[in-house]
Amino acid sequence: MKDNLGREINYLRVSVTQRCNLNCVYCGCENPDRDEMTADEIEKAVRAFAKLGINKVRLTGGEPLVRNDITEIACRLRKTDGIKKLVLTTNGVRLFELAQELKAAGVDAINVSLDSLDRENYKKMTGRDALPDVLRGIDRAIECGIKKIRINSVLIRGFNDMQADNLIYYAKDRNVDVRFIELMPFSDAGNNEKLIVKADEILKRFPFLTPVEGTMAQSVAKYYEAEGFKGKIGFITPVSDKFCSQCNRIRLLSTGKIRPCLGYDTTYDIREYLNDEEKLLSVIEKAISSKPAGHNFECAYGNVHAMNKIGG
Ligand code: SAM
Repeated sequence: MKDNLGREINYLRVSVTQRCNLNCVYCGCENPDRDEMTADEIEKAVRAFAKLGINKVRLTGGEPLVRNDITEIACRLRKTDGIKKLVLTTNGVRLFELAQELKAAGVDAINVSLDSLDRENYKKMTGRDALPDVLRGIDRAIECGIKKIRINSVLIRGFNDMQADNLIYYAKDRNVDVRFIELMPFSDAGNNEKLIVKADEILKRFPFLTPVEGTMAQSVAKYYEAEGFKGKIGFITPVSDKFCSQCNRIRLLSTGKIRPCLGYDTTYDIREYLNDEEKLLSVIEKAISSKPAGHNFECAYGNVHAMNKIGG
């Protein structure tokens, strides 16, 4: 369905948990709310969203792969009428063991969040010595035939900005796109503007990257290519160049609340209406209609949000 500004909303991001098996310096996963929707509840909610035109679902969190029933959830959502694409965002720590099951459950694509290819630096960023697990998880997902695998990295000045080279060259020999996402003002680290490494800065450092035609218009990611590289390099710029007019997404939090925009605290609770279809559809419609025109990070600065609660 369309929101009040005429944007077609067809993409739902479902956070299945606030729990995470990493503790990234900028994300903040303290005190997760453990009152998570069950697989049944998630399925009911997604069925209702699909009736209103949602056709793509992303499972996220927290870390979605810490849920023991994640493949069951994936399987159920993939079979839901109207859902044409099911994708997942993970830190990759459990990907090696789960890639085959996720593929069998119908997961079409996986984004792996990976901020460093240096083992020590990765440990500093995430609080866990898990880089080897993540790398073999990515290889396993490729072997299992997951069609599209992308790396998402957040560079933070003084923490891992020196990793940009390693990450860019990761795309040289693999058919894996590497995308840099600007640090957003959530949690304490994100609230420090000086730590943000903007897309322009990275592009200046790597002049051999050339724009991929057709991806430069306002869209979520702008892609660049380099001669001899199998994968592309993408930039997602929620801070330096908003793409809200193209936003087609809505979020469902693990606690059963809809959050229409990443940048606003407003939520709509649907958990109590999951068995009352009429009411459920009307609350979802209301949430979609009310999507703000754009995120306002200036206003979010100073607030304490955490991405693991919102579902990044
Ligand atoms: N655990 C999963 C993962 O690591 O991909 C899914 C949830 S995690 C919150 C999703 C993404 O949000 C990660 O790529 C993480 O880097 C990103 N993220 C967290 N806090 C952020 C912030 N302040 N600014 C930009 N991205 C952020």
